[in-house]
This record gives sequence, structure tokens and C-alpha cells, in this order.
Amino acid sequence: MYDLIIIGMGASGISAGIYAKRSGLKVLLLEQNMPGGVINKIASIENYPGFKSITGPDLATNLYDQVKSLNIPYKLETVTDVILDKIKTIKTNHNIYQAKYLLIATGRKPKFLGLEHEQELLGKGISTCALCDGAFYKNQDVAVVGGGSSALAEALYLANIVHKVYLIHRRNEFRGEEILIENVKNTKNIELILNEEITSLIIEDTKLKGLKLKNKELTVTGLFIYIGFIPNTDFLQNTNLNMENGYLIVNDKYETNIEGVYASGDVIKKDIYQIINASSEGAMAILNIIKQINY
Ligand code: NAP
Repeated sequence: MYDLIIIGMGASGISAGIYAKRSGLKVLLLEQNMPGGVINKIASIENYPGFKSITGPDLATNLYDQVKSLNIPYKLETVTDVILDKIKTIKTNHNIYQAKYLLIATGRKPKFLGLEHEQELLGKGISTCALCDGAFYKNQDVAVVGGGSSALAEALYLANIVHKVYLIHRRNEFRGEEILIENVKNTKNIELILNEEITSLIIEDTKLKGLKLKNKELTVTGLFIYIGFIPNTDFLQNTNLNMENGYLIVNDKYETNIEGVYASGDVIKKDIYQIINASSEGAMAILNIIKQINY
């Protein structure tokens, strides 16, 4: 029996794990993919204090190293179901665990456009990770779709590698940060394609060769999709946790509507999705759990 199980080893789950372990709680971290979560896919982070500039994979490695150096128990297993009685039962693909408290910090995954052949072309022209796949498109023409900070930041990253980046956005205003918008506008090999939507993919020999938009066609060998995210809450389908569009609803103590179940990071419904607040929320959730245990 654990005091606390934390599902997810992104910035929020790991921050929570650090606070829990240092507070003497018997804690277990569970992660289905790579520790660091979505941070692994960010090319460059320049707004996280303590690092003037750091790559996502380097920050993820630092977080993982801290888990190991503090001897925080963790398992790389996929949670398939949870039973949220007074004692929380967590089923994974390999084991069943029990804990008095549960923190859900499972983050979210990239959204797709829903176009025909989109999934088959993943790794063959379509990507959700410029940092991972950008180098395959050296000196070629590629497109980025989306109008938030992710699309802007990754278009800037790709512009240093590829010949040309078409940045396709469905409106004529970006919702991303002003500094990124300015930088994109000042980058010669980024062409803005505004008020446009991709209607289909042009494929030749099972590879992407271009895009059909509503009003034109583009010849590109790569399409990088940055149109937002979907929260990772599928494994909670048998629970009565309050959610909105799949995001968990929490109060200012990071408590869900079920006693002893907390949530933090990108999986919760909130206004700002940044690494810094995901980390802070993980720590705050643990401090609130400790108060609950002690008083
Ligand atoms: P986001 O802010 O949700 O933006 C998603 C973009 O995709 C929007 O521009 C949206 O268009 C567009 N979109 C959504 N569905 C679409 C569809 N089906 N077809 C075409 N376009 C579609 O997502 P994000 O850019 O990934 O950012 C997520 C969070 O991370 C934000 O809070 C952001 O500030 C943060 N972030 C920060 C940094 C940084 O450097 N500080 C970097 C990356 C991300 P509309 O605008 O028309 O809705």
C-alpha cells in the first residue's frame, strides 16, 4: 500500500514526486512513455527560470536524473483502469497497485487534423515533432499548421534547417506569443498562408508530396501539425471524475470531485499551459495532500 501514486512523469508528475519523496511519503510514479512527457518534443525552451536556453530533451533528462538521484520509485507501465474508492486501485498492463491518495498528471497528446491518410503518413511526411524529425527535411519545403505558440516556435526551429516553411493558419490572427509572431514575420524563409485550411494530402509512392488547401495547392515533403492537444484521460472512463472536454476539473487545492484524488499539469482544465505552472501545480498538490494527512 502506497501513501500516494502519481500517474505521469512529465514536469508536473516529477515535481510532485520530488516534493512527495522529500516529505517522506511512500510514493510511486507511473509513466507509460518517456519521462519528461511532452517536453521531449520541444526544440528550445527559453522561458524556464534557471536555463537561458535548454532543449526539451535536455530538460527532460535533467528531470529524470533527479528522480533517479532521489531514489523516487517509478515504473514504466501503462495505467489501463482505476477504481477510486477510499483506497485507490490502479491497474496497469503489468500490475495492480493501491494507494491512499492519487495524483493524475498525465498531460495531453497532440491533436490531428482528421484528414484521410494522415495517420498512415506519420513518419513518412507527417510529424508532430519538429525537433525529432526536422533534420529529415534538410533543404526541402515543408508546412507547419496551427496558429498558437507551438506552431510559431516550431516553424522558427524548422526555418533554420529546411529551405522554406509555409505556416498555414485557419484565421488571419495568431493566438501565440507576440515575440514569436514578430520573429516569424521577420524570418525570410517562412511564408504565412492565412485564412486557409488543408482539405487533403497529396501522396505519391506512399509519401507526402503536397497539400490541397481550400484555395491553392502547395508542394511540400513534410507537414508538421501543431493544432493543440487532447488530454490523456481515456483510462478514467469508468470513474465519476468531473471533466470538461476530457480535461479534469480541480479546485484551488488541485483536488478533483473525488476525495483523495488530485490532478495537476496539462491534464487539468485551466487558462495557461506552461511548463512552469505544470511544475508548480504538482508541488502544490503534494503540499495540500501533506496538509490533509497531517491535520
Ligand atoms: P493552442 O494554443 O491551443 O493553439 C492551437 C492552434 O491550432 C490555434 O491557432 C488553432 O486555431 C489551431 N487549430 C486548432 N484546431 C485546428 C484544426 N482542426 N485545423 C487547423 N487549425 C487548428 O496550442 P499550442 O500552440 O500547442 O499551445 C499550447 C499551450 O502551450 C499554450 O498555452 C501555449 O501558450 C503554450 N506554449 C508556449 C510556448 C512558449 O514558447 N512559451 C511554446 C509552445 C506552447 P485558432 O487560433 O483559430 O483556434
